[in-house]
Amino acid sequence: MPAPKFKRILLKLSGESFSPSGERGISMDEVVHISRQVSEIQKLGCEIAVVIGGGNILRGSQFKATTEVVEEATAHYMGMLATVINGLALHDAFESMGCETRLMSAIKMDGVCEPYIRRRADRHLQKGRVVILGAGTGSPFVTTDTAAAMRGMELGCDIVMKATRVDGVYSEDPEKNPHAILYSELSFQTAVEKGLRVMDSTAISHCMEHNLPLMVFNFRKDGNIMKAVMGEKVGTLVSN
Ligand code: UDP
Repeated sequence: MPAPKFKRILLKLSGESFSPSGERGISMDEVVHISRQVSEIQKLGCEIAVVIGGGNILRGSQFKATTEVVEEATAHYMGMLATVINGLALHDAFESMGCETRLMSAIKMDGVCEPYIRRRADRHLQKGRVVILGAGTGSPFVTTDTAAAMRGMELGCDIVMKATRVDGVYSEDPEKNPHAILYSELSFQTAVEKGLRVMDSTAISHCMEHNLPLMVFNFRKDGNIMKAVMGEKVGTLVSN
């Protein structure tokens, strides 16, 4: 078996990977399906940190738009807590398949999971444990894309792999325009200039400034995570 192209990976799983297409909440079938694919690359010796989203439960900005009662910051904290709920499900899915895992949260939650401490996360990764990073950055008004970029930088990851429900980065929204063009490679600069939906703008500027490549690919296609890690062309590679 050839060696994986990337040794340390930051995998960004959006909340939508926790529920069947078009649904909300958590489906353990979906969680087990994605965990199985990740556990296969862990067996190759890859060090994997997973930043999880919470959109299947609640996104701060969307929730705030439905009510005057909740403050925007509160809504974002609710979103961060949603990511920890997903993290607990993902943790148990990994461990059910014998994959040693730690859940760490950017918001301290004694009794639920470990606090995120960079050096401790690094140690877990060195020991081959999958590290799930919950509660995003711990601060409101950003998304877990920004958390993925920041954790990717501070943990010295070789790449950020963003799992989405489409095949990569398109010239337009492929769910609205079936003729949208799929890019196989792209520079961060072009992504910014064309306003392409890659990650949120804070996340892109972090990756660009710190020369951290980003791969956007479809998590619903079996084997895609493995292919991406082995250096095969899947999805869109965004770099400087
Ligand atoms: N969030 C936040 N700070 C962070 C990360 C997330 O306030 O550092 C909140 C934000 O409201 C966000 C929600 O948590 O909408 C869930 O994360 P996200 O929308 O990124 O989830 P995804 O779209 O990846 O499922």
